[in-house]
Amino acid sequence: MNRWLILLASLACSLVITDSSSALSQRPNIIIIVGDDMGYADVGFHGCKDIPTPRLDGLAKSGVRFTNGYVTGPYCSPTRAGLMTGRYQQRFGHEFNPGGGLDVGLPLTETTIANRLKDAGYATALVGKWHLGGSDKHHPQRRGFDEFFGFLGGAHAYFPEKRGGRTILRGTEPADEAEYLTDAFGREAVAFIDRHKAKPFFLYLAFNAVHTPMHATDERLKRFASIADEQRRTYAAMMSAMDENIGRVLDKLRAEKLDENTLIAFISDNGGPTMKGVTINGSTNTPLRGSKRTTLEGGIRVPFVLSWKGTLPAGKVFDSPVIQLDLLPTALAAAGAEAKPDAKLDGVNLLPFLTGKATGQPHETLLWRFGTQMAIRHGDWKLVRYDTAADGMKSGVTKHKLYNLAEDIDESHDLAADKPDKLKELETLWNKWDAELAKPLWGG
Ligand code: CA
Repeated sequence: MNRWLILLASLACSLVITDSSSALSQRPNIIIIVGDDMGYADVGFHGCKDIPTPRLDGLAKSGVRFTNGYVTGPYCSPTRAGLMTGRYQQRFGHEFNPGGGLDVGLPLTETTIANRLKDAGYATALVGKWHLGGSDKHHPQRRGFDEFFGFLGGAHAYFPEKRGGRTILRGTEPADEAEYLTDAFGREAVAFIDRHKAKPFFLYLAFNAVHTPMHATDERLKRFASIADEQRRTYAAMMSAMDENIGRVLDKLRAEKLDENTLIAFISDNGGPTMKGVTINGSTNTPLRGSKRTTLEGGIRVPFVLSWKGTLPAGKVFDSPVIQLDLLPTALAAAGAEAKPDAKLDGVNLLPFLTGKATGQPHETLLWRFGTQMAIRHGDWKLVRYDTAADGMKSGVTKHKLYNLAEDIDESHDLAADKPDKLKELETLWNKWDAELAKPLWGG
């Protein structure tokens, strides 16, 4: 009898051990890929015709694409602060880009996704653009990244002869980089995967493509000779370079048989800069109205993909609103390293919504504050105050406008006067959130 009990106990014990060790070995790699200043319309999976993006389209087909995928800021650094923390960046004063020369960056009180995954045993790297502070204390390797290859600021020349100094860093040391920057980032991403393929890794691959300056290789420009507009042609060549280099990463994962054990996210950090008076790169946000730097949809709704072969459904289109804040809790859940409630995350783990284990919407309400501009999306309704420059006027801010996005995706029929109760409801929700936020730590 005792022998049977001992045998049963040891069987149960070995089952537990087998179970937990297999769960450990199966913890997925996490890759977050970010494009910079991409237009909502400029990917094949959103119907783009003049710029082929076969690798991004393939990624979207292999997983879930989000038609209502948002970011928390209409330009670079605030969005990245939200991405890194899973929290609305206005909660900790990171409302605007950290200005040049100021010793400011992602507040040290905040914990990054890299901190969290590193603590969970992941090898971590940033390849590409940081834009969360240029001083030593804000360096990516002080914010949870084991490795860093890229640049610290908000924009960068793509060719070595145009760089004006050794501003590409490997860790903290200047690197003599000879390649076109987008190709260099692809190369470094593949090399990181190669070095760490035996254990779980987190790669944050933040391309500066297709942000200005507009630099493209001759070979890629030739492919787009049929595009008459020179700016659009250069943009197409730069998009194509990013798409190819995303392809190199996907090919590497497949070659190492890691493609079924890797969660991959792709977003742009904000919409295309199409507004007069804003540096323009040739992007298109159709059918959305507005631009980078506005809280109209064109500034904050972006191409958004999540793929995890074998775990998430392939070819799924998810129409409920999601936001880049969701990537941190989603990645942590995949890694089995969920944050404690005191982390006060605003993002939501999307996995149960995508596998069908949870019904309903990840978010009832999404909110934005960007200086005097604001927005709130609550169901299909959106209340917004945006920069009047988007209407071709001198820069200022509009009064509250109310749109129903289900019927009016390009925000052209203001219902504020017709629906005063709805306006009031959304205004009250936004005011409550606004009261929780910090004052910006630096100006816009
Ligand atoms: Ca950007």
